[in-house]
Amino acid sequence: MPITLLDWSVPIAILLCGVGFIAADVMGFGTALWGYSLCSMGVGFAIMLYQSPEIWPIKQIIEDNCILLGVILACRALNGRKEIENFLPLEIAVVMTASVMIVTSLMMFKSVRLETFFVQACCNVILWRTTIAYLKSISSTGDRILAGTFLFLSMAMTFQCILYLSVHDTDAVVGAWRASVWGSLVQYTGLLGSIILAFAVMISTSSDFIEKYRKHAHIDSLTNVLNRRGMEALLASPAGRRLISASTAIVLADIDQFKGINDRFGHAFGDIVIARFGALLKSLPGAGARVIRLGGEEFAVLLTDVTLEDALSAADAMRRAFQSQDWPEEAQESQFSASFGVTLMKEGEEISVAMARADSLLYLAKREGRNCVVGSQNFAGGQGPRGILTRFAPSVS
Ligand code: GH3
Ligand code: MG
Ligand code: MG
Repeated sequence: MPITLLDWSVPIAILLCGVGFIAADVMGFGTALWGYSLCSMGVGFAIMLYQSPEIWPIKQIIEDNCILLGVILACRALNGRKEIENFLPLEIAVVMTASVMIVTSLMMFKSVRLETFFVQACCNVILWRTTIAYLKSISSTGDRILAGTFLFLSMAMTFQCILYLSVHDTDAVVGAWRASVWGSLVQYTGLLGSIILAFAVMISTSSDFIEKYRKHAHIDSLTNVLNRRGMEALLASPAGRRLISASTAIVLADIDQFKGINDRFGHAFGDIVIARFGALLKSLPGAGARVIRLGGEEFAVLLTDVTLEDALSAADAMRRAFQSQDWPEEAQESQFSASFGVTLMKEGEEISVAMARADSLLYLAKREGRNCVVGSQNFAGGQGPRGILTRFAPSVS
């Protein structure tokens, strides 16, 4: 049967996808292994198109091992996403077993059906091992897409193996198998599997990048806490909307005389101080992912299910922890401090109103001499202090 342009189009499409992934890797997408995998499969399927009139084991070994290598590389690419270890001895054992079984099937049994079964079974061993390990470590949309694809491919290949073992209606002769419905099935499902894999890689890579950039847009790179945009996204989310309740405290924190720290020790050291302060706030029990760097050396922390007294105590613990930090050489003798404004949200209140109240309290803490915590539930700047609670420390210079 002559090879038509349509026959060529599929291995060429797989090869082009592979080349595309290799090119994308040069641009920083980290898709090289996927590219090599698809190229290897593409070459395997292209060789498959050539039908030799008699049994030619070397051609079959090259063809099948190209496909097997493609599967191994795809599994390695998947493992690489989660730092799951590859198991080289298994891969070598599978390639060697497949090669021996190809020759045995063709030379002893003159059966392409058996040869196909063994190659598929070998691919299956590698696929299932990777799929099972990967299913345990899913964490993103990209992971879910790839895990689903690998699960589907593993199941489809297992089904095919069972099918090949159970069918006896095709003759053992090479030509008869190739021309049979079963022979066509292996080629077309293999081709389809590669195309599905290529699409899954494309979609998951795009999804990874969208997630990565969304995360970057919401996280402050110096302190690894949320930035203002991250706070807005958090508050707009269902989890964030639940945060806005009467038992949520807003703690505004600002490093004291920070300009002086920059002037004395340099901007780079100032960055270290800001990063350390952010990490300290993050370690506050219950603060977790709800620490926001509002700008410069000013942070907000949202504490849920607390009373004003709890929030004041938490802020004071942070104040003392920051003040007792050990600093690197140039500032070894120095002590830095921070001031805190703390308030509780009121039922039905806009968060911006509560933030403004916390800001006024922070301003008051600065006026009170810094290095202290000032909190109130009802304070309104212009009306003068009402119901103010403070936690003072001996003033530091
Ligand atoms: P106060 O006690 O009243 O808060 O005084 P302050 O000096 O801490 O406050 P001020 O607002 O006068 O100064 C903040 C300084 O923080 C000014 C700005 O140059 C510096 N700054 C802002 N962002 C960064 C940053 O990312 N890294 C460093 N090192 N400095 C920053
Ligand atoms: Mg400051
Ligand atoms: Mg400030």
